Amino acid sequence: MSDGPQARRLPADYEGMASLEFGPARPRDHRGPDVLVVGAGFAGSVSARKLAEERGLRVLVIDRRPHIAGNAYDTLDENGILVHSYGPHIFHTNADKVVEFLSRFTDWRPYEHRVVAEVDGRFVPMPINRQTVMALHGVELYGEEETAAYLAWVAEPREAMHTSEDSVVAKVGRDLYERLFRGYTRKQWDLDPSQLHASVCARIPVRSGDDDRYFNDSFQKMPADGYTAMFERMLDHPNITVQTGVEYADVEQQYAGIPLVWTGPIDAFFGYRHGRLPYRSMRFEHELRATPGGRLVQPTGTVNYPNERIPYTRVTEYRQLTGQVAETSTLAYEFPSAEGDPYYPIPRPENRELYHRYEQLANARPDVLFVGRLARYQYLNMDQVVAGALAAVERWSPLSAETDTEHLAA
Ligand code: FAD
Ligand code: UDP
Repeated sequence: MSDGPQARRLPADYEGMASLEFGPARPRDHRGPDVLVVGAGFAGSVSARKLAEERGLRVLVIDRRPHIAGNAYDTLDENGILVHSYGPHIFHTNADKVVEFLSRFTDWRPYEHRVVAEVDGRFVPMPINRQTVMALHGVELYGEEETAAYLAWVAEPREAMHTSEDSVVAKVGRDLYERLFRGYTRKQWDLDPSQLHASVCARIPVRSGDDDRYFNDSFQKMPADGYTAMFERMLDHPNITVQTGVEYADVEQQYAGIPLVWTGPIDAFFGYRHGRLPYRSMRFEHELRATPGGRLVQPTGTVNYPNERIPYTRVTEYRQLTGQVAETSTLAYEFPSAEGDPYYPIPRPENRELYHRYEQLANARPDVLFVGRLARYQYLNMDQVVAGALAAVERWSPLSAETDTEHLAA
């Protein structure tokens, strides 16, 4: 197949991109990329690897940030503790396919996340379990059955599960809801649980036994060398070029006509023409503590603060996630905020409706693959984003008859 019109539209000076930041040295190629991937987070990097490896496409990945890995980016701080710049990220999944794919790029360190909530000066397990109920209600409950019966007794029956308030009070009643969920949720979202979709608080299970792990998933491990190292290996492929510190708007014209994987906010892609989708942001403060003898500061990896008088929602001690032993420990405080990077799509019916208007525009663009948490405006965990990207790329046919595919036959 000869060079198609799309290939001819590529910039003559594409060779200038040889100043790659990742990937091995490779022979200069006079043609440009077959696909442009915007965003080097999970959605973009997984898509890039699949397209490069399975379809043999030349992929250019750009990210406006000065690094890869998106919100999962981690780096060593001044004391050598591996910290996450965009908030603590704990990996957990039930999807074998996701584990299989990521395991090609990382070993894993066993880590089961545990959380306690600080309520009236004491720490209780979160998610709510038998110990939580006994501690906060001053009752003795012998075994799962008795705890389940007690929770059923304090629960408030609800006809329908529309809001996050419904989903919690229907399981544990008003008192536990108010002490563990209401204040935390108001801080996190600047909305009352009664204004948020039921699925938000339903992320947190309720248990009648003594299991005190935060997640139920069958696979709970952390990338052994961290997330960034895993992404470096994922993007290390002869067909992949990565450029960080590059804003899409600045190269849009340059790569016009090339199929695109878009992992940024969907409303931004369409110039906010239907109005802005709301996102919740977050500010992170890191605190260094001296820990002589390598002791740990917190009883669990994360401590949640549901009390509205405290401005942050939770504090995480990174060393518990990484297993590092050191004379200092780094803590991350999470302060939810209206301003800043778009981190959390806000699950409310009117936002979903607005998203659907953008989705219609997206459906009319088969040349663009919208994938990831911001492009789908969905509150997705890392594993869900990986699974979504793996499936989306399988279905996507970015190669039109006009696209240059000569090199595929080589
Ligand atoms: P992102 O990681 O956001 O990547 C998108 C990338 O696109 C960004 O790097 C951005 O810079 C780039 N980009 C956007 N627009 C442009 C543009 N115009 N030009 C160039 N580049 C652009 N999930 C879990 O499973 N476990 C957790 O413990 C967990 N904790 C979290 C804690 C916080 C505070 C947050 C916010 C999320 C957490 N998540 C967690 C969710 C997880 O971060 C996401 O599922 C995942 O990172 C989404 O990947 P993504 O590629 O869709 O998006
Ligand atoms: N939540 C709460 N109290 C808690 C923990 C969670 O009210 O102690 C609610 C809160 O609304 C939060 C949601 O449950 O946004 C989901 O919690 P998760 O820990 O999954 O949030 P994420 O890790 O995504 O920030």
